[in-house]
Amino acid sequence: MASDSKNGEQHRHQEVGHKSLLQSDALYQYILETSVYPREPEAMKELRDITAKHPWNLMTTSADEGQFLGLLLKLINAKNTMEIGVYTGYSLLATALALPDDGKILAMDINRENYEIGLPVIQKAGVAHKIDFREGPALPVLDQLLEDAKNHGSFDFVFVDADKDNYINYHKRLLELVKVGGVIAYDNTLWNGSVVAPPDAPMRKYIRYYRDFVLELNKALAADDRIEICQLPVGDGVTICRRVK
Ligand code: SAM
Ligand code: CA
Repeated sequence: MASDSKNGEQHRHQEVGHKSLLQSDALYQYILETSVYPREPEAMKELRDITAKHPWNLMTTSADEGQFLGLLLKLINAKNTMEIGVYTGYSLLATALALPDDGKILAMDINRENYEIGLPVIQKAGVAHKIDFREGPALPVLDQLLEDAKNHGSFDFVFVDADKDNYINYHKRLLELVKVGGVIAYDNTLWNGSVVAPPDAPMRKYIRYYRDFVLELNKALAADDRIEICQLPVGDGVTICRRVK
């Protein structure tokens, strides 16, 4: 594989906040330019551009992962969905655009301000009616949902992209809330590649802090016979879990 490192930063791809695991930036840029950007809905491009100017843009879902989520949702005919971790709403918009007109997304984030950055774009795209945004920590919302038996097995799809130290707690609850045959997608399960870094490797503080939680989650998912899994090197790694019992 050709190295583009000698060309320096100018040849690194421009996707803001991307964390592609591909070793070649040129190859990632090729994917974006050939298959992703030409098919990206206008509203998603607009939201991506707005998010790029935000100081925390590293958190956004990449365009290729957004495309993957949209396609996955259509493949499974998802209608009732949930998202934990919204930020400015790129994955939320990908979901809202993929769902049928009567589709639903229960979207949770402790930060409403960032959601409101993307909201005008979501409204303009005509899909805001599918979204029920709840400001606050997700775990109590899940507990509240579990109190009502009619919510059990009622979700077709959940995208988990928030506090990594809670993923195991989410998993316990989500397995009851997702229907048998439904899908839970856990994002950032390769955690910037740190899952294979030696313990003494230099790492940003937050990467080091959450690393053990991601490692534990990956082991737990692999050992959980209630789900089938596939860990994909898309974005920062996304583990797709299908509930089987
Ligand atoms: N999916 C988003 C996107 O496409 O732009 C990115 C989400 S960002 C990586 C993680 C988000 O999780 C942040 O917006 C943060 O405020 C939120 N978050 C952190 N802890 C949370 C919690 N306990 N409950 C709900 N959201 C939380
Ligand atoms: Ca993510």
